[in-house]
Amino acid sequence: MSNICDKCHRNLTWDETAICMKLISRNTRIFYCLDCLGEKLGCGREPIEQRIRYLRESGHCTLFR
Ligand SMILES: [Zn+2]
Repeated sequence: MSNICDKCHRNLTWDETAICMKLISRNTRIFYCLDCLGEKLGCGREPIEQRIRYLRESGHCTLFR
């Protein structure tokens, strides 16, 4: 599965795809890279990277295994 950022059309990594499903909607068909998602959410990419790291380490989220 390979998605591109809706805004800057960059190819997305799985992490970027998964965090969009997590933060936007599990069924979303619109995806953003970390930079554009951070901009959209108004928080910047840093908190999103931390969230990804947390989800991966906690092992609770099926998207991050
Ligand atoms: Zn982008």
